Amino acid sequence: MPDKQLKRIAILGFNLETNRFSPECGEREFRDRGLFYGEDISKDARRPAPVINGGICGFYNVMDAAGPWEPVPIVFASAHPNGPADQKFFDHILDTMRKGLEKAGKLDGVYCCEHGAGLSSENDDPDGEVFALVRRIVGPGVPVIATLDLHANVSDRMVASTDILIAYRTNPHVDAYERGQEAARCMLEMFAGVRPKPASIRIPLVAPSVTLLTAEGHPYGDLIRRGQTRVGPDIMNVSILGGFAWSDTDRNGMTIIVTAREDAAKAKAVARELAIAGWADRERYQTRMTGLADAARMALEAGRDRKRPNLLFCDPADNPGGGGRGNTTYVLQAFVEAGVEDALFGVFNDAALVETAFKAGEGAKIDARFNSAETNEFSLPFTAETVVEKLSDGQFVGTAGMVKGRTVQLGRSCLLSLGGVRIVVISIRQQCLSNDYFQHFGLDAGKARSTVVKSRGHFRAGFQHLFPPERIVEIDVPGLTSCNLANFPWKKLPRPVYPMDPETSWQPPAT
Ligand SMILES: [Zn+2]
Repeated sequence: MPDKQLKRIAILGFNLETNRFSPECGEREFRDRGLFYGEDISKDARRPAPVINGGICGFYNVMDAAGPWEPVPIVFASAHPNGPADQKFFDHILDTMRKGLEKAGKLDGVYCCEHGAGLSSENDDPDGEVFALVRRIVGPGVPVIATLDLHANVSDRMVASTDILIAYRTNPHVDAYERGQEAARCMLEMFAGVRPKPASIRIPLVAPSVTLLTAEGHPYGDLIRRGQTRVGPDIMNVSILGGFAWSDTDRNGMTIIVTAREDAAKAKAVARELAIAGWADRERYQTRMTGLADAARMALEAGRDRKRPNLLFCDPADNPGGGGRGNTTYVLQAFVEAGVEDALFGVFNDAALVETAFKAGEGAKIDARFNSAETNEFSLPFTAETVVEKLSDGQFVGTAGMVKGRTVQLGRSCLLSLGGVRIVVISIRQQCLSNDYFQHFGLDAGKARSTVVKSRGHFRAGFQHLFPPERIVEIDVPGLTSCNLANFPWKKLPRPVYPMDPETSWQPPAT
């Protein structure tokens, strides 16, 4: 095929899951996870252990296999979940997208790899802003397809500005790559003449995030699976977005988006059916968390009696994957004070403590001051005598769950021991997604009596070979991502909303 006929597809994205109650973030936080300009996007997407979002890698995979094409990579900015993006930084990203699209000349399509639950300091819908900008520049006839995290809070503008929105279908998210592949296949269908017809419905259900798992037996997974049975010759995609409560926007609420190949009425009918089913099932979105004293007792018993099964605890309220700072010490302190033996903790975010450990060196005893530099309502200081067991540059390739085959960067990191507890301390804030985060330091959660992770639920994919669900304990402690939603000073969240307001009612749209 001569070059001039190659399909030219712009690649871009802004990825930030925003917790309105967390501190603002800017360029540094995006550089920590991935800020790619131009050709660096294509290079990373095509290398063996990429850093960039799997959606982009999947998109390239299908397009590369379909024949020659011309990617026009512009900018991809991704940060670990955080507070709102600093407005200047977001404006810079938007401006880079605008200039890149204008300079690109004639484009045949645009793929946006977006999260969908973003906020910037002066804008409650930056994702909608990105899509509207793209549409304004390329015009109505050019396919604009986006992938979204299933925690996206979907605005009407996001739907109106794109042709197809494709959300993850797994939580933990292990299908980013496949959804990128799907986006490419949809793009190819549009090149062949399909003109998608989307329909979307939002229901007033803002579920605590620990209840949004997609495994068998969970209501959200059941609804997603029901939606997939409707996909076929008429319906090209069904996306059901659980949303992200802590963004605290007027677009919060579970959203069903159905895209038909031709018939808008069919898309509407399926969306309506799924919205009714989702609403009817609302009472199943219940949390079952364990109090801190009970959790400490369980860990103590697991350490003393080796005939008991070992346990995996998680701290959903300080989940860096939801904007938590990854440094609250409620669980650590309770386990240390209870005298828990043979326990692993990971990963604790404290760059200042890591630097202290590096200065002291491996084998040194230090009075570790947790949270000496960064303190807030939940991240309180805690001091303990520790031994520096290991130091590391914090880079490895993951082998399981969401980091399988991907390069993980923890920043400079160390392993400290305090009595029966060993803790991995990192300097790039993130959640613990697999046993790799311990194995990198020569540890193994499969052998320890107790393991505690700072994560809400994504860790499950990376530990499922070691811990069946009945040996996973969700601990209920305070924090920026606590699932006790009634404790937050909501400003924008539509009320009434279920389950915070049990009397919430909802009527399906007329047929
Ligand atoms: Zn998510």
